[in-house]
Amino acid sequence: MGLFSKEPCAFCGKEVGMMSRTKMSSKDYICDDCRKKLNPFARPDHLSKDQAAEMMARMERDEKALEGVKLIDRRLSVGRGQEIHFQSNIAAGLFTITTPQSKRFEHRPVFYFSDIREWNASEAFVNQAVGVSTARELVHDYTSVISLKEKRGADQRNDGWEIRFPYYSGLLPEILIKIPKEADPGEVRDFWKSICAVCGEWERSGTRRARDAHDLHIENAMSTLNDVVKAAVKGEGSDGIAEAVKKGIEKAQDIDAGKVKKKSLFEKLFG
Ligand SMILES: [Zn+2]
Repeated sequence: MGLFSKEPCAFCGKEVGMMSRTKMSSKDYICDDCRKKLNPFARPDHLSKDQAAEMMARMERDEKALEGVKLIDRRLSVGRGQEIHFQSNIAAGLFTITTPQSKRFEHRPVFYFSDIREWNASEAFVNQAVGVSTARELVHDYTSVISLKEKRGADQRNDGWEIRFPYYSGLLPEILIKIPKEADPGEVRDFWKSICAVCGEWERSGTRRARDAHDLHIENAMSTLNDVVKAAVKGEGSDGIAEAVKKGIEKAQDIDAGKVKKKSLFEKLFG
């Protein structure tokens, strides 16, 4: 375990030195090459081996969501001819971020506006009680949630900026965009403002309601199926089954008509 000892990568088995590996939370290592299969914005030291493997599979799948989707590009010049891009499609409810560092990764990350969530203490308490580790609620004022912070070096001079999004995903608790000091301060501020504006635009677009409806339809389909199975097991015959299916169809129509509202976990448990 010395400073210069080599350790095998948990994914490819390659023996790697300290400078080209990261220790995961499960105490094994990931090499810099395998790291490129992860989300460029993930912290491998915060992931276990299983979570990293799950993320690799997900990255490949998620990237397909960008195929054929027209992206609106907001860009920030960060010096030496390099740029940071925030590209989004409000109707699809998604965005992707490209930085000079993320370009070295194998897959483009896909993020969803609906996963930018604020911390909610009451929901966190409930989730903890039922064994879910994270809880965030939907955001209304993005400028208060997406932060822009100037970094300062030991000499108090500007050392770049950080834009931070809280992000609701068990594997990715936040998105951190690192901006080098070579960028122009005014342009950095405009870039941050335009990101907040795009998020606000998505919020007002109704896509969020569509996504909630989508979730409700899945919930309804699952519970209808459950009722159908129960009716069949109880031997209620075709009448019982038809009744369960009819209820499911009626609920689906109510969801489309906007009569069913999505409840937060807190409301579900105590509402
Ligand atoms: Zn490896």
